[in-house]
Amino acid sequence: MYRLREGPRFEYREQEKQRVKDSLPLAEKFHQLKSLILELGYYDSTRQTKNAQVKYVPNLENAKSVFRVDCPNTGCIRGDFDLTEALASAIKHHRTTVSGEMTCQGWMSKTTINTTPCHNVLRYKLSLGY
Ligand SMILES: [Zn+2]
Repeated sequence: MYRLREGPRFEYREQEKQRVKDSLPLAEKFHQLKSLILELGYYDSTRQTKNAQVKYVPNLENAKSVFRVDCPNTGCIRGDFDLTEALASAIKHHRTTVSGEMTCQGWMSKTTINTTPCHNVLRYKLSLGY
């Protein structure tokens, strides 16, 4: 038995990984999209502390249209950030820049009764070229 690879966190990530894998690459789903740059700022739940800022330029041929960003909180269960909708809507409306904020809906659990919401915050800026 592979006990270490079980548990709610692992199962959720596996399930989501499959959903990403089954989706079309960005280039195939959105023919009009020629370039995409993501700027991601990771904050804790107070929004005061920035934990990381990354700039990401996905390869549109490989990057999938179900677009998820992992929550950096290592104990977080069923959380993460899903930019799929934000991205699809930006492309649909031919926006060249979109920014927004998302709160992680996952939680941290030490026991099954004692859980704390994660509420990490992702601030994103998408720059799109057509
Ligand atoms: Zn989280």
